[in-house]
Amino acid sequence: MFIDGGITASRPRILEAANSLSPGPIKHLINTHWHFDHADGNAWLNAQGAAILAHENTHKHLLSAQRVEDWDFNFPSPALAAVPTEVFSSEKALTLNGSNLALKHYGPAHTDSDISVTIPDADILHCGDTFWNGIYPFIDYSTGGNIDRMIKAAEANIAAVTDKTIVITGHGHPVSNKAELSAYRDMLVAIRENVAKLKQQGRSLDDTIAAKPTAAFDAKWGQFVIDPALFARLVFKGV
Ligand SMILES: [Zn+2]
Repeated sequence: MFIDGGITASRPRILEAANSLSPGPIKHLINTHWHFDHADGNAWLNAQGAAILAHENTHKHLLSAQRVEDWDFNFPSPALAAVPTEVFSSEKALTLNGSNLALKHYGPAHTDSDISVTIPDADILHCGDTFWNGIYPFIDYSTGGNIDRMIKAAEANIAAVTDKTIVITGHGHPVSNKAELSAYRDMLVAIRENVAKLKQQGRSLDDTIAAKPTAAFDAKWGQFVIDPALFARLVFKGV
């Protein structure tokens, strides 16, 4: 069983890792949301016999071409083999290879298709792209994401774990914990407040970015692809 298939270029490394864990075929794939870097592996995994389970909005977005405005990028309609074979709308419980899994839709968050995957017996929570560990997150307004719902998803993740839970992230260091999740939520809330204040004062987007509303966090969080100016812009859009 796989949670997200990554990009097709990663296929050899994914197969090598999978074979080192278990020699059998990969029969099940769960998509945490529709984005290319998480669902691009759907086609080859499905061609090898994996059923694909996802939220119904992931299914919807993978059925047609998508434009992501803030990346200025058009994603072509993927092959039919990449389309989830089973969907759900709110929650789904299932047992795969003897493990119980609980899938839950966040509602709109990073996109409108994000789900969490909980494996209670192993005390694991997979947050998908609702959690970028130690780096500013992307928020995809083009397919239903927004900053306030990202904060709500972070709150839901914190409420769902204990200090012992293994928290799996969408980007940044992949294995995390409640303390890092809380630091991430605090960063989102603080920057949201800073940007909202500036916007309420009537500042334009450019003036808001120039006022550096993320400054206190940039040394730690601003070192990846979502740089301080882009993150300020993504927050500005939603407040
Ligand atoms: Zn994503």
